[in-house]
Amino acid sequence: MREARYDILFEPVQIGPVKTRNRFYQVPHCTGMGHRYPEADLAHKAVKAEGGWGVVSTQEVEIHPSSDLTPSNQGRLWDDSDIARCRAFTDRIHAHGALAAIELVHGGANAANRLSRMPPLAPSHALVTSDEPVQARAMDKDDIHAFRRWHRDAALRAKKAGFDIVYVYAGHDLTLLHHFLLARHNHRTDEYGGSFENRMRLFREVVADTRDAIGDSCALAVRLAVDELMGEAGFRHGAEGVDIVSALAEEPDLWDVNLSSWENDSQTARFAQEGYQEDFIRFVKTLTTKPVVGVGRYTSPDTMARIVRQGLVDLVGAARASIADPFLPNKIRDGRIDDIRECIGCNICASGDNTVTPMRCTQNPTVGEEARKGWHPEVLPSLDRPAQILIVGGGPAGLEAGRALVQRGASVILAEAGDEWGGRVARESRLPGLATWIRVRDWRMVQLKASAQAELYLGSRLTADDILSYGIAEVAIATGARWRTDGVGRWHRAPLPFLGAGVTVGVDRILDDGPGCLPAGPVVIFDDDRYYMASVVAELLAAGGFDVTYITPAPIVAAWTVNTLEQGRIQTRLMTMGVKILALSALKARDAETLTCACVYTGRETTIACASFVPVTSRIPVDGLWSELSARRAEWPDFGIARIERIGDCLAPGIIAAAAYSGHQFSRSLDQPAAGFDALR
Ligand code: ADP
Ligand code: SF4
Repeated sequence: MREARYDILFEPVQIGPVKTRNRFYQVPHCTGMGHRYPEADLAHKAVKAEGGWGVVSTQEVEIHPSSDLTPSNQGRLWDDSDIARCRAFTDRIHAHGALAAIELVHGGANAANRLSRMPPLAPSHALVTSDEPVQARAMDKDDIHAFRRWHRDAALRAKKAGFDIVYVYAGHDLTLLHHFLLARHNHRTDEYGGSFENRMRLFREVVADTRDAIGDSCALAVRLAVDELMGEAGFRHGAEGVDIVSALAEEPDLWDVNLSSWENDSQTARFAQEGYQEDFIRFVKTLTTKPVVGVGRYTSPDTMARIVRQGLVDLVGAARASIADPFLPNKIRDGRIDDIRECIGCNICASGDNTVTPMRCTQNPTVGEEARKGWHPEVLPSLDRPAQILIVGGGPAGLEAGRALVQRGASVILAEAGDEWGGRVARESRLPGLATWIRVRDWRMVQLKASAQAELYLGSRLTADDILSYGIAEVAIATGARWRTDGVGRWHRAPLPFLGAGVTVGVDRILDDGPGCLPAGPVVIFDDDRYYMASVVAELLAAGGFDVTYITPAPIVAAWTVNTLEQGRIQTRLMTMGVKILALSALKARDAETLTCACVYTGRETTIACASFVPVTSRIPVDGLWSELSARRAEWPDFGIARIERIGDCLAPGIIAAAAYSGHQFSRSLDQPAAGFDALR
């Protein structure tokens, strides 16, 4: 049973005509699935309803072909033919006792309309927000009337599809209604532009239209970004935020308030602590009697209870916490706090939408596979036979494989060479800003330590002879990967022999020994990996007093972190810390004291001082053990061994989410036929 201090989280909340069963509110969030993978999208959201969320929301749902976000995988409600798909959504959510909410969106100048080929719409003539040679045209009065009709029609369809809560959405600098509100986008001189009251006119009208359409059986939610963190150049919570909430205070049945842009709303743990939106949204409840929902990467039930108790919000909003653990509410309800799989705040989930692919999650490997592979986040089928499995390596792949296997009823022996569990997450969580990443290890260790079927051995570096002699029938090799030091990555595809002319320090050495392992003098970091690692190493070294130059063939630092919504903050932080950045540069030559790089376009060379060089390029599997065992395959039956598999980085170096996924997949593969694409192998 739950602890009394969490009772407050399980109080029902009246939202207009509908009532939630508790205060857990999964706010709208993208999944990278949407209308293109509707079954996947639906199955992902359905497990949240099953897991106890009081409200489960869609992602943004395009209301009309003039809001065509192709190729992005959003929801769609363009016409009546889309109602059936939405009805399937509400049926599944209702079947588990949750309310279903729909976020209607018109993307305005954010929608380039690649499929519909309609000229995009905006308050004033403007380029679309993507880097495309497409302009949105200024809407005339007929367009405004048409837009109001489309929104109204979509609200009617949403009601027909069975939604309990219908959103009017003005946020994230990505919607037509938001663009009308914002002076930098709205240069109109008619009654829809100019004064704040005029800029708010369309928003007010659409709220009224929506109310009229949905009548008194559905609730109306307004999603509003109350601050853009741009100072006077944008919305500020203490100015425009107050003005608009005051003006419309009692109009909606629910205020869903957050920050804009998405980069500000969904900040990673590297840049923001749990609850980082509190100071911005605090004012809202002082201006309205209607319930308020807010977000802030809340994973701690104590914090959740606090923000309700303090009157900051009525409903605890979550996107990421609900992705990492769809059963978070039920776990709190059942007093299983230690079982909560806490989000680490890495935004791999957000990268799904940004790369137009079904999202995945570092903590929850079942995300995106609920439908395709039938993976449930909590329920794993019991093994059809007794099984003992040896897992070599205690990083995310080995720990996830072991955890899932004991849940399936297997006996697991986990051997780790080092003196701590976690592999790369233990080492990386000591880097600046990545402390929460240790949750990948900690959640799995809690599960493993609670199981009588798991034998856990640290300080156990196994050899091929050890593994053969144990004679355990099934073995997973999860021995990870090491960073290369020969320069091979994206730009340089072959080793660079000239790197041997000076001191080169690998990432692993820095992870193990800290900055003290570098000689005094200028450090040059070469980032051809383009995710986070080079930037955190640069931060670590700059904070340690080193003179750091960051070289990358990409035009920006940590280029892939655009997809995790971090790139702007990373580059700003490095520049603020005094890290010198040489973009669009590849490696050319090296001697004991200098390094020469060359512009990737012109070949123009620049020589800089370099006492030590840190290449952050790509990784090589630690698969010597596997190679040896593989070479002795003929001996396996003599030792009673049926199967030895590589998993995680040992099979193919990748992100932490991929390692956990690989471990999870191994655990499912023991007695289950291959599913999804794996069946094609
Ligand atoms: P992954 O991301 O695939 O889980 P990691 O690099 O995080 O990989 O973890 C691999 C772990 O395997 C490391 O903690 C490492 O110490 C351990 N390891 C490597 N070789 C052996 C071995 N021969 N015996 C036991 N553990 C090993
Ligand atoms: Fe949290 Fe990372 Fe999972 Fe997203 S991918 S829900 S940020 S753990």
